This record gives sequence, structure tokens and C-alpha cells, in this order.
Amino acid sequence: MLFVKRNLFRDIHVGAETVKFKLNSSLDLSEKRGKMLKGKIAIVTGGSKGIGKGIADKLSKEGAKVIVLDLEKAKTKYSVICDVSKFDEVQKVILDIGKKFGRIDILVNNAGIYPFQNLREMNEKDWDRAIDIDLKSVFNCSKAVLGFMGKGGKIVNISSIAGSRVGFSGLTHYCSAKAGIIGFTRAAALELASKGINVNAIAPGLIITPGVLKGLDKKGIEGTIGMVPLKRAGQPEDIANAAAFLASSDADYITGETIVVDGGWTTS
Ligand code: NAP
Repeated sequence: MLFVKRNLFRDIHVGAETVKFKLNSSLDLSEKRGKMLKGKIAIVTGGSKGIGKGIADKLSKEGAKVIVLDLEKAKTKYSVICDVSKFDEVQKVILDIGKKFGRIDILVNNAGIYPFQNLREMNEKDWDRAIDIDLKSVFNCSKAVLGFMGKGGKIVNISSIAGSRVGFSGLTHYCSAKAGIIGFTRAAALELASKGINVNAIAPGLIITPGVLKGLDKKGIEGTIGMVPLKRAGQPEDIANAAAFLASSDADYITGETIVVDGGWTTS
């Protein structure tokens, strides 16, 4: 039997023997095991800030060439201004990327907005804007990459616990779109399985980003953390780690799935 004590020095008991083991806090496992996305061509939407930037940085660190699509230029090597809610614009931009790089291995559909609007105040334009940016963009980008994506391709969609597990007052459009992404993920996974392409989603809980800080003050953040069993808000890196895993060959046998990354918030 083997068990490990939670100290800086750990006693590891192997049968009758006890071995003292010093933890090396600076151990970087990603460097130890080699880059998991070496040579891959990846597109990340909404990658100039927040969760998208976290994902773009992590995929780059893991060896991928990352092209960011966003409304503004990202501080990365490959960045294209593109409104992902616009079908024709997306088809053109991704066609150019496909021609330039020869193939596309990974697409992360991350761009999204979450403007709080009660149903009474929300007009048709508000509804359409949220659905177009949060849901239609997933269709626009996924459709555009298919011509350049072959066996081993990975599509990772950023949904939300607002789509998979809970409702949020003031966000009917957003919750609808995020639930729609989960349906899209399942159906696309079935369609694309025969092509060797995996389609999965991530449902983040509270993640501290510029978008969240626009709508939630310190009190609101602390109130939410109070409901999170792991007792902290998430950081973009928490979602980036899950995205890198789903984008890698380690996830080859996972498709149509939604992984919740919320510190246990919606499990409690
Ligand atoms: P964020 O900080 O606002 O960053 C979103 C990025 O997407 C921004 O750079 C934004 O550009 C860009 N974007 C918006 N509309 C776009 C469009 N039409 N075309 C291209 N890019 C566009 O947001 P975030 O918090 O990182 O959220 C990222 C994703 O995670 C979203 O899908 C969100 O729903 C999801 N999510 C976030 C949380 C959270 O707690 N943060 C929780 C669950 C799910 P502008 O700033 O110029 O608009």
C-alpha cells in the first residue's frame, strides 16, 4: 500500500518501509514531459485578453503556433482582427489562415460577452447580439476550419456553468447561448468522429478576467468565493490547462463532453 502525507517533506510508506521525500515546489511538469502541442496550428477566438489570452499563452507554451482572432490586435506573433459573429468575415479570415499555414489542428471557440439585461429591458437587438457572439460564432468558426482540419483535429468550445448547470438572473440570452454550445458540442462530436476530430466543451465557473471585473465588484467576487469549496476564484490558467489537455492527444478518446472547471461551486 502507498500513501503520501501532505507536508513539504512527505513520508512515503511502501509496505513496511518509510522514505522521506522532499517536495520540489519549482518542479514544472510540462517541461519535464515535453511540449504536448509541438508543431500544432491553433486558432483561439477572443484571445487578446482574459480566458482566451490564458489559453493562447498556454497553447504557445506547449509548442503550438497560435493565431488569435479578436476585435483588437493581441500582443502575440499571429493576431488577426475579426468579428467572429460575422459569418462571411470569419470564412474569409480562416480561409486565409488555412492557406498560409497549410492546415488547422486546433480551434478554441472562446470569444463571448455577458451583458446583464433583464428580460423586460432586453430588446431584439440585444438578444441577437448575444446569441450571434456567444453561439453563432461557434458555428461560424467550426464550419470554417473543417476544410483544413484532419484526423487528430480538436475543437474546444468555451461554454459556462450558466449553460450546463445553473441559471443567472439577467442573463437569459447568455444562458441560452451557453446551453446551445453544449448541444452543438455533442452533435458536432458525433458528426466529426468519423473524421477523427474531437469536439469538447469547458464550462468555467467564476474566472477573474477583464470581462468579469466590468460587471462584478470586490463584494460580489468575495460572495461568490464563499460558495466555492476550493475557496478561491478561478484564473484564466485554470481554464487554459483544461483547454490544452482537450486540445492534445491525451484527450483522443474524449468527445462530445463538457468539463466543468469551477472549483466545485456547482457540485456543492
Ligand atoms: P473577456 O475578458 O471580456 O474577454 C473576451 C474577449 O473576447 C475580449 O478580448 C473581447 O473583445 C473578445 N470578443 C468579444 N466579442 C468578440 C467578437 N464578436 N469577435 C471576436 N472577439 C470578441 O471575457 P472572459 O471572461 O475572458 O470570457 C471568455 C469566455 O469565457 C466567454 O465565452 C465567456 O462567456 C466564458 N466564460 C467566462 C467566465 C468568467 O467567469 N470569466 C465564466 C464562464 C464562461 P472586446 O473586449 O474588445 O469586446
